[in-house]
Amino acid sequence: MFKEDESILIDGAQKMGINLHKEQIKKFSRYLELLVQWNQKINLTSLKTPQEIIIKHFLDSISCIKVINKYINIEGISIIDVGTGAGFPGIPIKIVCPSISLSLLEARKKKTIFLEKIIEEINFQKVEVLNGRAEAFGKCPDYREKYDIVLSRAVALLSTLSEYCLPLVRVGGLFVAQKGRSYKEEIDKALKTVQFLGGELIGVENVRIPFINQERHLLIIKKIKDTPSKYPRKEGLPQKRPL
Ligand code: SAM
Repeated sequence: MFKEDESILIDGAQKMGINLHKEQIKKFSRYLELLVQWNQKINLTSLKTPQEIIIKHFLDSISCIKVINKYINIEGISIIDVGTGAGFPGIPIKIVCPSISLSLLEARKKKTIFLEKIIEEINFQKVEVLNGRAEAFGKCPDYREKYDIVLSRAVALLSTLSEYCLPLVRVGGLFVAQKGRSYKEEIDKALKTVQFLGGELIGVENVRIPFINQERHLLIIKKIKDTPSKYPRKEGLPQKRPL
């Protein structure tokens, strides 16, 4: 990573109250390198420059940490990142908080090959890659209602996303959705679905990402009761016919 890119990462993290140490910077640097390299072969991200990747992927991903810590101590907990793509927000969070157990769930095989490569290169412990759809994992007893936190960014509208994510959260745990400008309309449309699937919206947190002026909101949904066993419905339905 060039010095000026490194400064953006370090300063940006610091502005969010995160002091990155040398080892963590090295990990971000290797991640960036591989992301740029693999992006020439498979479509992992539309962001091309290291600066854009650092700000809009790395800093944006770790912006969740402080907010999550307001609700639950992130140290040592289990997190699943649903529709992680090239690893966002899960991998940057793991670099900053190595004690978490992380599952990276992604439907597209090609992307999971990249994720496996990253895990091997960075030598992460307690990270697994799951290839498949959230609808299938949400039905599987090994994953259903097992996670302290389910995270998701840029995957689907809240109504659909709730059916992907809430079945995976343990009762008492959190579903955290990273959303942009249209968060209010999404909430209005999905509130009943969230409640029906066992969730309760307990917070909407505005987050500022250093160096850019774009709205980001974290929706904090607590799982207060079991999700009815019928849900999630079969693959594709949550998107085609949101509840
Ligand atoms: N979360 C990443 C980010 O913010 O950069 C990736 C966002 S990308 C726009 C959405 C990803 O979600 C895609 O890689 C897609 O394959 C995955 N996805 C969509 N629906 C899914 C589902 N039902 N189960 C698992 N992955 C899904």
